[in-house]
This record gives sequence, C-alpha cells and structure tokens, in this order.
Amino acid sequence: MRFTDTPELADWRKTVQGFLAQHWKRTEAEEEVMGEAAMLSPEYLARTKSWLDRLGEKGWLAPAWPKKYGGADMSVLEQFVLSEELTKVAAPTSRQMLNLVGPTIMLHGTEEQKAEHLPPMLRGEVAWCQGFSEPGSGSDLASLQTRAVRDGDDYVINGQKIWTSGAHRADWMFVLTRTDPDAPKHRGISYLLLDMKSPGVSVRPLVNLADEHIFNEVFFEDVRVPVRNRIGEENRGWYVGTTTLDFERSNIARAVNLKKQVTRLSRYVADRAAGGQPVSPAQRIEVVDRAVETAVCELLSFVVVSIQANGGVPNMEASMNKMYGSELSQRMAYTEMHVTGMRGQLRRPEGLESQDKIRAAMDYLTTVPATIAAGTSEIQRNIIATRGLGLPRG
Ligand SMILES: Cc1cc2nc3c(=O)[nH]c(=O)nc-3n(C[C@H](O)[C@H](O)[C@H](O)COP(=O)(O)OP(=O)(O)OC[C@H]3O[C@@H](n4cnc5c(N)ncnc54)[C@H](O)[C@@H]3O)c2cc1C
Repeated sequence: MRFTDTPELADWRKTVQGFLAQHWKRTEAEEEVMGEAAMLSPEYLARTKSWLDRLGEKGWLAPAWPKKYGGADMSVLEQFVLSEELTKVAAPTSRQMLNLVGPTIMLHGTEEQKAEHLPPMLRGEVAWCQGFSEPGSGSDLASLQTRAVRDGDDYVINGQKIWTSGAHRADWMFVLTRTDPDAPKHRGISYLLLDMKSPGVSVRPLVNLADEHIFNEVFFEDVRVPVRNRIGEENRGWYVGTTTLDFERSNIARAVNLKKQVTRLSRYVADRAAGGQPVSPAQRIEVVDRAVETAVCELLSFVVVSIQANGGVPNMEASMNKMYGSELSQRMAYTEMHVTGMRGQLRRPEGLESQDKIRAAMDYLTTVPATIAAGTSEIQRNIIATRGLGLPRG
C-alpha cells in the first residue's frame, strides 16, 4: 500500500488543481450554508450548468465512460484523484443519476437507445430518477411488485415506487418492473425507461425530517411504455440493473468532506479557547475521536481504491467503507451539536462569523438517512459477516 502519488499521478493532480484554480469559483461562505435540497434546486443547477458543461467537454463528468460516449477512459486512480480534488473545493462532480443509468444503457442498450439517451444525459438536458424501491421492497429489492403487462408494442404498468429522489424534477425514470410473476423473483423483472410525462404517472412529495423535498412516491396507473424502451431482454432486468462500469468506488468524497467538517470544528474549539470561553474537556476529546475516525475513513477509502487499481473487485471492503463512513457522518453531526450547543441549533447560519458557520442542526438531520440509502448498515453488516468473516446466514 503506498500512501503517496506516483510521479504520474502527482502530475495529474497538478493538472486537475490548475484547472480548478482557473475555472471553479465559489466562495467558502456559499459552500458552508449549502444544504442538500439547495444543491438540487433549479437555481443551483442553473448556476452550475456551465461548470458541468466545461467538465463534460473534458470527459470529466463521466470519467470511467469510454471516450466515444463522452467519457475519458480514465484509470481508477486518475478518477480517485479527480474526485478528491473536486470535493476539496466543493465543485459539483457529476450530473444526478448519470453513473447509475448511463453505463447500463451503454452496455445493454441498442444503438438507437444509446443515441437517444446518452448525449442529452451528458449535456445535462434531461434529468433522470431511479425507480427501484417500493413500499414492501427495499433491502429485498428483488421482491418488487410493480407490474408490467405486455400489450402489443407497449407494456402497461401499474404499481408504486417510493423514496424516488428527484422524481419531481425528472424527465425520465429507469424502472424495474415485474414482467413474469410466476418466475423465481430475480428472473421475472424487466428494466424499462419511462417518460415521466406519460399519462398515468403521478408524483407525490415526501418531505424529509430536515423539511426538505428530495424524494417522492410515484404511482403508475395504466402507464404505457413502448417495448422499444426496454433495456436488455425481457425478465433479465435484474442482471441489467446490477451493471456497473469500472467506477472508482472508494467514496473518497465522503472522507474529504468529513475532514473539512472536523477541521472546521477544531477551528471553532480553538477560537472558543482563544476567546476565553473554552469548550469542556469532554467535548475536546470528542472532537479528537472524530479526527482519528476521519483518518480511519480515509484509509478505508484507500483500501477500496487499491483493490480496484490492482484489478480486484472490492466486496466486503466496500461495505466496510460505506458502513463506517455513513455512521461516522452521524457521529460527526452529534459532536457538532454537542460542541456548538445553542448556536448549533441554527438551521441556516448565514450572517454569523465564519467560525460559527457549522451546520450542526442540518448535519444532524440530514445524516439520518445516510445509514439507510444505498444499502442499510444492517445489510452491510450482513455482507461483512457472511462474505468477510465466513459466518453462516442468520
Ligand atoms: C435519502 C434516500 C434516498 C433514496 N433514493 C432512492 C431512489 O432515488 N430510488 C430508489 O429506488 N430508492 C431510493 N431510496 C430507497 C433505499 O434504497 C431504501 O430505503 C433502502 O434500500 C432500504 O429499504 P427500505 O427503506 O425498504 O427498508 P427495509 O428494507 O424495509 O428495512 C427496514 C429495516 O430492516 C432492516 N433489514 C432489512 N432486511 C434485513 C436483513 N436481511 N438483515 C438485517 N436487517 C434487515 C434494515 O436494515 C432496516 O433497518 C432512498 C433512500 C433514502 C434514505
């Protein structure tokens, strides 16, 4: 395991840093008050469009994609460095859902499907959402019930999806549907591309506990989707849906963000001491614990990227990284709340001195779903137990 860049990677890092210094301009104050909903708002998306276009021109929006589809054919380590440097300066890194649906179309789509969907996706002209989870199917996704019945050249869809992020702004949904209810559950699913303007689609907001509208319920009532919008074979959608390209999966962005948070917190503690109002020794120790854990989180990212860079597929290592990082993001928010006390309860700390701009309340509320989204901590622990430790299934 090497902890430093090779000379080639060091050069690449300088190239990325030079590009960012020249082209990315956002004030630290803006970054500090930015919540997740704000980052999905039409204003923010419009403001960052030209930035994303610029990244897209270089193939940096979808670095793992082949050049012929608008990517950059980058190695895992080059993507790792790119992602690390973009996160350090809080630059938006990719268009929503690009990496979830793009590679699937690239690998399993017809030439017509690729030509229709990939270029507008990279140009940011269309927004996508992911219609996988249902009220009774989350961790056990293969049990999904939304039904698609063939009728001539169309499928007719009835059912419901839930927790669909960005459905209220999406033009398209990539959706898993049940096309054969009698087959074993993984073998009766088809992967469809659904135009959100189709008659019979209704989207209802779900407001999260931070009072933000990010995800939704989506209902389908006799929605017709042309058969030509199916990706891959009928009833093979489960396997189509698990497609990935060789993405960088270290989630270094999370470690970089945690580092920023703990640095801000340390500055706050130092400022309080300098101002004659030190925080308690117990709180100082809590901050130190978070700093140590952040270093561990970074190392777990290195483990994952090292495995990938050596041609391996991270499995339980990716689960360890996801579980540890998401649980640490919650502990970090708790510590922010403890250390900042009454000030931390301000939801939007605009107008305060910069050392007080810790988004403790928002971090506290918005990190709750971190251990649910993209696979719950319990599921990650199951993977670590069975695939990592060889324990029997419970
Ligand atoms: C912020 C956010 C955004 C999301 N965005 C999307 C989206 O855009 N599109 C989409 O399709 N989905 C989305 N989801 C849904 C997400 O994928 C599911 O919430 C997740 O897979 C868990 O499923 P569930 O909510 O049905 O919980 P369940 O699977 O019902 O789990 C409930 C509880 O039981 C536990 N549990 C379940 N099975 C086991 C087991 N085998 N062993 C031990 N414990 C178990 C879980 O850990 C959990 O604590 C989003 C979720 C969140 C929080």
